[in-house]
Amino acid sequence: STEPTATAVIPNDRLLGGLLSPDFDEQSCLSRYQSMLYRKASSHILSSYLLLKLRKYEALHKKCGPNTPLYQKSVEQIKLNHSTELECNYVVWSPYDGIGNRMLSLAATFLYALLTDRVMLIHQSEDMVDLLCEPFPGTTWYLPLNFPIHGLDEHNKHSQNSYGYLVEKNMINTDPKAPPYSLPSSIYVHLLHDMREDHLHVRFYCDDDQEVISKINWVLLKTNQYIIPGLFIIPKYAEELARMFPSKETVFHHLGRYLLHPSNTVWGMIMRYHNSYLAKSKEKIGIQVRIFDWAPISAEKSYEQVVRCTQQELILPGVNVNQSQISPSTSTEATARTVLLVSLYGEIYERLHNLYFEHPTTTGEMISVYQPSHEEKQQTEKKFHNYKAMAEIWLLSFSDVLVTSAGSTFGYVSYGLAGIKPWYLQSSLKAWNIEHPSCYRAASIDACYHTPPHFNCKTGGKADPRNIVRHVRQCDDYTHSPTVK
Ligand code: GDP
Repeated sequence: STEPTATAVIPNDRLLGGLLSPDFDEQSCLSRYQSMLYRKASSHILSSYLLLKLRKYEALHKKCGPNTPLYQKSVEQIKLNHSTELECNYVVWSPYDGIGNRMLSLAATFLYALLTDRVMLIHQSEDMVDLLCEPFPGTTWYLPLNFPIHGLDEHNKHSQNSYGYLVEKNMINTDPKAPPYSLPSSIYVHLLHDMREDHLHVRFYCDDDQEVISKINWVLLKTNQYIIPGLFIIPKYAEELARMFPSKETVFHHLGRYLLHPSNTVWGMIMRYHNSYLAKSKEKIGIQVRIFDWAPISAEKSYEQVVRCTQQELILPGVNVNQSQISPSTSTEATARTVLLVSLYGEIYERLHNLYFEHPTTTGEMISVYQPSHEEKQQTEKKFHNYKAMAEIWLLSFSDVLVTSAGSTFGYVSYGLAGIKPWYLQSSLKAWNIEHPSCYRAASIDACYHTPPHFNCKTGGKADPRNIVRHVRQCDDYTHSPTVK
């Protein structure tokens, strides 16, 4: 196949090198064309083939979107209980887990829609109302409320309309040459973290099964995962993926910048915070501290880790602990470095803030430390809690340097959008010593697929996805999981 031509993104180009469509009213979604004013320009090659695919997708979505005759026709097919050849086929995404997980899985589902010529619609939940802008011009991505299939939230690995269940019970004709009318009009695809090889949901990642699924009019997909490395192991999509993404680790970077735009409500929060605390900074350092239940760590230890990491890696200067006077070289000009500390808890911020408040730095520089919120616990069911999470992810993505917590999808989204390799704060489950430092530089800007399929489509036995395709590699922050490079 011919290699796609590629374009480098020009700084301050409001359409990001053609990634964004010009066909929007700017006021309706200020973040779409304004994020680039605050973020570093992308240094990652964008293929003209991807741009072509996106424009074709936008046309398809407009043609098949909710409230069009073709959408109506595809919805009517649901009542007939079997698939048929239709102009418009769909993949419906349902939200699950926190904002980080949702943004990754949404972008991954969109890539699946691009690869399969489906229209992606999203099942809107109360906790996401007014979180994101519409990404496609002249249409909507929200699944209408009168959609005839109910209970999308309740679907789980045991659901009897799931692809895995239907295959297991021999209720689906898995012959790739089977005609569409022998297949149901819709199926549920279960790709949550609890998907195991003993449930045949994993067959989603097999070529023949993709051939079968391609004939089903409606795919209802639920995942909280960055399933993109999984799509890379499906031979059917290999060529398209290579043409769209000559640099394979940039899938989320580009698709995230294309698809995910905070609503004006959230953008207001982002701008108010940015303009109040970060705008004058010479260098913005984003630090995200996520403490997982499965890797507990005290606030004190977590603070020590942040200090050790940032000083060892020369991200922040040290302080003269024995000195509390102002150093003669201290400047009052607005050239200071700013730390944006993002965490559910306030204590790490308090300590870091005090460190630079109580003592002068060894370099004479001024370090300001800010934290937008400390929500104390995850409350994904609350709209404003999610707005804050989204706003903080975006503020982090404006950073020049990022330090994020290993294994956190919240962190993945921030550095993926920024397009920079973060330093990972190592999980507390690992000992920190000379060989295993408290943090280390990530090898890629890509997110990690935490619970990938370990399945050999030919034998039905186990297989490590990293052994199937060359560019699917070990993530550096999450043991036994793959990423794409
Ligand atoms: P992950 O669990 O770290 O992979 O990230 P998710 O974003 O999927 O889920 C964590 C959720 O907890 C977030 O979406 C927020 O609701 C909340 N949360 C975790 N850390 C922070 C934080 O630093 N700031 C805010 N505002 N919320 C957070």
